[in-house]
Amino acid sequence: MDIKLIRKKDPKMAVLIETERKRHEETLNLIASENYPSRTVREALSSMFVVKYSEGRPDKRYYGGTRVIDKLETLVEGRVKKVFKINPKKWTVNVQPYSGSPANYAVLRGLLTPGDKIMSLALPHGGHLSQGAKVSLSGQDFKIVNYFVNKKGFLDYKEIERLAKKEKPKLIIAGFSAYPRKIDFKKFGQIAHRIDAYFMADIAHIAGLIIGGVHPSPFPFADVVTFTTHKTIRGPRGAVIICREKLRDKIFPKVFPGIQGGPHNHTICALGIALKEVQTVQFKRYTRQIVKNAKILSKELIKYNFDLISGGTDNHLILIDLTSKGVSGKEAQNLLEEVSIIVNRNSIPYDQRKPFDPSGIRIGTPAATTRGMKEKEMKKIAFWINEVISKHQSNLRIKKAASKRRASLDEIRREVKKLCKKFPLS
Ligand SMILES: *Cc1c(COP(=O)(O)O)cnc(C)c1O
Repeated sequence: MDIKLIRKKDPKMAVLIETERKRHEETLNLIASENYPSRTVREALSSMFVVKYSEGRPDKRYYGGTRVIDKLETLVEGRVKKVFKINPKKWTVNVQPYSGSPANYAVLRGLLTPGDKIMSLALPHGGHLSQGAKVSLSGQDFKIVNYFVNKKGFLDYKEIERLAKKEKPKLIIAGFSAYPRKIDFKKFGQIAHRIDAYFMADIAHIAGLIIGGVHPSPFPFADVVTFTTHKTIRGPRGAVIICREKLRDKIFPKVFPGIQGGPHNHTICALGIALKEVQTVQFKRYTRQIVKNAKILSKELIKYNFDLISGGTDNHLILIDLTSKGVSGKEAQNLLEEVSIIVNRNSIPYDQRKPFDPSGIRIGTPAATTRGMKEKEMKKIAFWINEVISKHQSNLRIKKAASKRRASLDEIRREVKKLCKKFPLS
């Protein structure tokens, strides 16, 4: 990006751009859904592909001048099939969805009729808004039956099967935003198909892990797979739908003209570049390190007596129940932000508190791992999290002076910044 040009033409905006970059450089991003795309991916977002209107599908457009766009979209669709190793004759790909939520909505409206029943994981148990939450159109158009994780925080497939047989939904969704364990897509597929329901896998969070071979794939068990492209895949913000060939004519018209207009071709171009990057050995190594880092971080946190939902992690994220620490999720989020560690508060299964100030925080390793952080850094991070959350509480209890508490937070913030400087962004 030509920041010098922006500085010259729009100094005010340049300040915002550079301040946000600096914020990222100097803070530790532990938001499980965020990641840092390569410079190449970011450059492609400012290419001339931003201009073109190309409503329709490759070779079936409503505008002139789309010959290059057709090549672009076909190339990127092919790369999607390649990275998931799927049979190109059986599966079909749509790279046009603007983001994960509209992609999911298009699928639901394509396969179902309003009023039909959907079964999905409850939001506070790790599901996503777009999977039938009441505040989402997905929850308003359809009848929603939720399944839940058990008290230990694991999916209970027997219980899910029992519920599916009783409720007979037309579609079952698996694939979550805050579930730290592996998902058995094969079982979900069997459960759905035994009751003649569609099985939709929403692999927004774990798509990169699946490509890297560190999480089982939903293929060939799912009928439709959706994913965002900006999380573990490290692409631009966007989403993809992959479905069985025979479902194409139900789903694709809901993307366009159903809920979208012209595709964001600069995004599709950047996605194509990300999909080339994920084919490298470096990316495979990266995904292994994401999981390794999450496991180390969880072990360290357990040593500091943090309660982790499900007792650990198999993937890139950790869900902490802070009840025993005497701080709420919101307080913990704010305290950590004071030392430049960025996390998000999160509901935990069977939460006694309200979603706006729940009992948990969610932390993830993809962004820190992109910066090159490894075991040693994870141990430091766990140490700081403990210092900030546990120590802060005990300092409050013994009524340590505010100025002293401040000083210890300042000290940690300096250390976090020092660590971040050692792992620069591209
Ligand atoms: C992030 C996410 C989405 C939606 O993504 P947006 O691009 O924010 O709309 C959908 N499903 C799951 C499981 C997610 O984690």
